[in-house]
Amino acid sequence: MLKKNIYDVVIIGSGPGGLAAAVAAKKEGAEDVLVIERDTELGGILLQCIHNGFGLEIFKEDLPGPSYAQRYIDECLELGVETMLDTIVLEVTPDRKLYTSSTKYGFVEIQARAIVLAMGCRERTRAMIQIPGMRPAGVFTAGTAQRFTNIEGKLPGERVVILGSGDIGMIMARRLTFEGAKVERVLEILPYLSGLTRNYVQCLEDLDIPLQFEHTVKFIHGEDRVEAVEIAAVDKNWNYIPGTEEIIPCDTLLLSIGLIPENELSRQAGVKLDPLTGGPYVDESRETNVPGIFAAGNVVHVYDLADWVTLAGYDAGKSAARYAQSVRVKESSHIPVKAGNNVHHVVPHSINKTNLSDEQIELQLRVRQPVEDTVLIEVHDGENRIARKGALYARPGEMLTVVLKERHFADVEKADSLTVDVNPL
Ligand SMILES: Cc1cc2nc3c(=O)[nH]c(=O)nc-3n(C[C@H](O)[C@H](O)[C@H](O)COP(=O)(O)OP(=O)(O)OC[C@H]3O[C@@H](n4cnc5c(N)ncnc54)[C@H](O)[C@@H]3O)c2cc1C
Repeated sequence: MLKKNIYDVVIIGSGPGGLAAAVAAKKEGAEDVLVIERDTELGGILLQCIHNGFGLEIFKEDLPGPSYAQRYIDECLELGVETMLDTIVLEVTPDRKLYTSSTKYGFVEIQARAIVLAMGCRERTRAMIQIPGMRPAGVFTAGTAQRFTNIEGKLPGERVVILGSGDIGMIMARRLTFEGAKVERVLEILPYLSGLTRNYVQCLEDLDIPLQFEHTVKFIHGEDRVEAVEIAAVDKNWNYIPGTEEIIPCDTLLLSIGLIPENELSRQAGVKLDPLTGGPYVDESRETNVPGIFAAGNVVHVYDLADWVTLAGYDAGKSAARYAQSVRVKESSHIPVKAGNNVHHVVPHSINKTNLSDEQIELQLRVRQPVEDTVLIEVHDGENRIARKGALYARPGEMLTVVLKERHFADVEKADSLTVDVNPL
C-alpha cells in the first residue's frame, strides 16, 4: 500500500533524471518523495546499457549503466524515497493530480505539491521515415535490439545492417559483434556522425565496421524475414543518386534514426513544448510553464551523456522541493534564451531573473552544422557580450555547454534576452 495520497514531490520515471531528482528533493528537505516507474525495476534505460562509459563526469569512474544506476537507487532508498513500480502514470493535471494504474495498487489518484517529469524518450521507427519495401520480421529499433540482447538474452539476428549513426546504433554494432553477429555496414544519411565520436572510435573503427555517410536504405527485401536491403547514396536533398544502388544480404535491419522526448503526459498537463527539441520549455530551475511542474533529462531534450541527465535531475528535484515547501516565491521576470548563429536549440529556454542566486547556470546547446575547428560559444544581449567559452570543435552529435556564473549575473539582470552563438574563432 502507498503510505499516503499526498506527496511533496512526485517524480515520473526512474532513469538517471528521475533518480537524481528524487535524491535532490530529499536532500533539499522534501519529506514525502515518490518515484513512479512503469517498469518492474528502478533505473530506466540504464538497465539495458550494460556497456561502460557512464559516470566519467560525475564519479571520474568508467561504469556500466546498471552500476551507475545502482548508486542512485541505493541513495534513494537510504534517504527514504518511496517507489511505485510496475505502475503507469495515465494522466497529469495542471493542478498536479496524477492518475496511475497498476496490478498491484489498482487505479490510484495522487496529489503532488510539485511534480518532476522524467519520462525519458523513445526511438523513431521505420513508419516514421517510411522506408519502402516488404514488412518482414527482422526490422528493429536499436534500443529494442539492445533490450533483447542485454536483458532478454536473445540475439535479434546474425547478419545486420544498421541505419543511422546514433549512439545506440553504434553501441549495438559493437555489442552484436561481440555476440557473434556480423555487422555488415552502418549507413548515415547525413554527411556527418549523429552520435558521439568516442562511440564511433570504440564501437565501429576499433572493430573495422564500415560506416558510409550520405547513404540510406532504399528498399527492404524479404517476405517473412529480412533477406537483404537495397541501399543507395543520396544527394544534399536526400534524393537517391541513380546508379549507386547496392544490395546487402542480411537478416536484420536496426534503426538508430533519432529519439523523441516522451511528452504525452506533459501535454495533458498543459505544459508547452518546444517544436525544436520536442520537450517542455523550461527555465533555469527546470520549471515548465505550469507552476509546480518541473522537467529533466531526455524528456526535455536528448542528451549525449547520462551524467548530464543526472545533473539536470538534481536541479529539477531541488527546485521541486523548494516549490513544495514554498521556499521559493515564484515571481515571473523571465528573459528568453535564444538560439543564435549555428545553434539548433538552447536549454534552459529562459532565465527567471528573480531567482538568480549564487548558483551557476549551465546553458546546454547543440549546433546545426559541424565545425571541425576551434569555435567560440558566446552569450550576448545584443552588443553586450556576457560570457564566452572556446571549444576545439562543434558537432551536432555532441552537446556543448557554457556556464553563467555569479560574476555574469549583473549583466543578466540588465538584459532583455540572451542569445547564444557558436562562431568559428
Ligand atoms: C532505447 C534507448 C537506448 C539507449 N541506450 C543508451 C546507451 O546505450 N548508452 C547511453 O549513454 N544512452 C542510451 N540511451 C540514452 C539514455 O536514454 C539516456 O542516457 C538516459 O537514460 C536518459 O535518462 P532519463 O532519466 O531522461 O530517461 P530514461 O532512462 O529513459 O528513464 C525514463 C523512465 O521513465 C519511465 N516512464 C516513462 N513514461 C512513464 C509513465 N507514463 N509512467 C511511469 N513511468 C514512465 C520509463 O519506463 C523509464 O524507466 C538510450 C535511450 C533509449 C531510448
